[in-house]
Amino acid sequence: MTLFFRTVTVEEAVNAARSIAPLMEREDVPLTAASGRVLAQDIAADIDIPGFTRATMDGYALLSSDTVGASESLPAMLRRIGTVGMGTPAGMTASPGTCVYVPTGGAIPKGADGLAMVEVTESIGDDILVKRPVAVGENIMVRGEDFSRGSVVIENGTRLSARDIGALAAVGTTLVPVRKQPVVGIVSTGNELVPISRIPAGGQVRDINSYLVGAYLASLGCLPEYFGIVPDDQSSLKTILEQALKRCDAIVLSGGSSKDDRDMTADIIRDAGEVLVHGVSIAPGKPTIIGRARGKPVIGLPGHPASSLVVSLVIVRPLIAAMVGQREIRLPTRSAVLAENISSIKGREDYVRVRLSGGMAFPEFGKSGLTNTLIRSDGLARIPAGVEGLEEGDAVEVILW
Ligand code: AMP
Ligand code: MG
Repeated sequence: MTLFFRTVTVEEAVNAARSIAPLMEREDVPLTAASGRVLAQDIAADIDIPGFTRATMDGYALLSSDTVGASESLPAMLRRIGTVGMGTPAGMTASPGTCVYVPTGGAIPKGADGLAMVEVTESIGDDILVKRPVAVGENIMVRGEDFSRGSVVIENGTRLSARDIGALAAVGTTLVPVRKQPVVGIVSTGNELVPISRIPAGGQVRDINSYLVGAYLASLGCLPEYFGIVPDDQSSLKTILEQALKRCDAIVLSGGSSKDDRDMTADIIRDAGEVLVHGVSIAPGKPTIIGRARGKPVIGLPGHPASSLVVSLVIVRPLIAAMVGQREIRLPTRSAVLAENISSIKGREDYVRVRLSGGMAFPEFGKSGLTNTLIRSDGLARIPAGVEGLEEGDAVEVILW
């Protein structure tokens, strides 16, 4: 064992994590349970949508050529030959000089190629005055305009939003093929940790990370399984890791990831499998471990809660995305103007907690062990590895929590 980290860049760490991600199996879930899940295959439209040409407004379906030059003072006069009901075919044909009343969403009769909304018409018995020209296709949605039969509606690897669920309903997907949710084992290590139900005695602290990291993983669509607190002791750690490897798809341990002689996480992972990365050029979060045992990713997070969350966001998140085959993992960001200088070290990627107010980003400089900055901040300003810092007035992209 060496006493120094051989650190890798954030990009290398993310690539290493993704390279060991086992792809979760598929399962079918009802559409009502599919929100937030990741689609496991392309879904194509089973029919043309809409299945018939429809009105987008209440009005009169007509032949647009009958309304050329129509105006307030010289309206086109058409004869209404009928009314279309909702949920039934139009059942009639519009011919020159005629029109048909169609409510919003109703079927446009054959022959008609446009619709004059009621607001630009006046009816005198069955004679309808149209006071404006109607263009071809105006106020009409043609058959297959939304989705044509066989075309891909939602792509494989999409994390399903409410909007996606709506589209899947439109194409009749009652059972949705998705990736299984990864069961992620969560272990907190440290002799100083006590369960949160206890008042810590001298030198002790409550176990924050199990809950913080567990909640974050749940927000990514994982099923956290909590293994509690393990003391800094080789055999206890080994036992828990073995148990977790049996029950979980991936394991996240926090604490004990540096190179102190009490920090044995890396050794335990190496004993069970391999360590690919120990040390990442990121602040906070340098003492991060990426390993694998029995084909399952085992991640060692630094113990400071803020560091464990930053590494979860920057490295664990792409790992989980790869496990569920998620295509797009862009984080929501907001651009802001930096209110104070932030210094960094060239070659290290920094994630500084910032508070946003009036388009400005105010860095929350605090010791990385403090938790209050997590709840006071709105997100993280990223300082890329290539720069030595950012100055007041510089534009920053803030990753929103
Ligand atoms: P370590 O990474 O084990 O060297 O721990 C770094 C710091 O994080 C120490 O101050 C620990 O007490 C603290 N720490 C480690 N694990 C947790 C945890 N689960 N909850 C709260 N603080 C922790
Ligand atoms: Mg520790």
